[in-house]
Amino acid sequence: MKIIETGAAAHAHAFSRPRQRPSILVPTMGALHRGHEELIRVARHHAGENGEVAVSIFVNPLQFEPGSDFEKYPRPALEDEKICRATGVNLLFRPLASEMYHGDQSVCVDETALSSALCGASRPGHFRGVCTVVAKLFNLLAPDAAVFGEKDYQQLAIVRRMTRDLNFKIEIIGVPTVREADGLAFSSRNQYLNTDERAQATLLRRAALAGQQLAEAGETSAEKLIAAAKQVLAAGKSTRIDYVNLVDSETLQPLTVLRPNALFALAVFIGRTRLIDNLRLA
Ligand code: AMP
Repeated sequence: MKIIETGAAAHAHAFSRPRQRPSILVPTMGALHRGHEELIRVARHHAGENGEVAVSIFVNPLQFEPGSDFEKYPRPALEDEKICRATGVNLLFRPLASEMYHGDQSVCVDETALSSALCGASRPGHFRGVCTVVAKLFNLLAPDAAVFGEKDYQQLAIVRRMTRDLNFKIEIIGVPTVREADGLAFSSRNQYLNTDERAQATLLRRAALAGQQLAEAGETSAEKLIAAAKQVLAAGKSTRIDYVNLVDSETLQPLTVLRPNALFALAVFIGRTRLIDNLRLA
C-alpha cells in the first residue's frame, strides 16, 4: 500500500497512473469502521483486481462549524492504516491540513439548493466545507469514480450535484448504510457514546421504522408520520431532536403528504453526540 501525505505527491501519483488502470476513491475522515470497509469493498468491485482503490483520510476543518467536535474527533492513524492494508487498499492519502489549505485560501465551492435543508440548516457552512474538500480531492487524485455512503444522504446528493454542475468526469457511487445488529448505523461518532447513550442510540432507527410502519398502514400525512417517529425518540432520557423530516429524496424539500421517493431523515442528539440516519419510505 502506498501512503501519500502531500498534495504534490498526490498529483504526481495521479497523473502518472496508466490511463487504462481505473482508480476509485473513498473519501473519509478516518476512525474507520465497517461502514467504511463496505465502501472500500464496493470500490474494489468497481476498480477490478488490477485497478486502484484509494482511500483519503482527512479530518476537514472547513466542514466543522465553530464549537463542534473538530478537536476531539478520533484520529487513530495506526489502526486506520492497518484496516486499509487488511482491506486491500492500494493508496492511502492522508494529508496534513497545511497541505490542503493555504492560510489565505479564498475560494470555496458552494452548493445553493440542496444545502439549505436538513443538516445544512443546523450546521451552517458544513456543506461548503464538504464540497470544497471533495472538489480538492477530486483535483488532487483524479479518480474515475468516488464512493459515498447513503448514511450521509444529503452529502451524497450534494456531491452528485456538484459533480454534475462543475463537470467533474467522475462517477459517484452510493452505498447503502451498514448497521450494527441492533440497527444503529456505524459512525465514527458512536464511540463518543457511553453505555447508557449507546442503548438510546438505537432509537434513531426505531423512530424511522415507526414512521415507515405507519406509512405502510396507509398513513400519508407527513405530520403524523413525523409525530410517530418523535414519540419513539421521546422515550430516551438523553435524546434531543435536531430534526425529523419527510423530504423528497431528489430535491430534499419537505413533503406534507407522502409520495413516491420520500425520504425520512433525522438528526438527534444523544447526550452531546449528534447522530443522523435516514430511511427511504417509498
Ligand atoms: P466519514 O468518515 O464519517 O466522513 O464517512 C466517510 C464516508 O463513509 C461517507 O461517504 C459516509 O457516508 C460513509 N459512511 C459512514 N458511515 C457509514 C455507514 N454506516 N454505512 C455506509 N457508509 C457510511
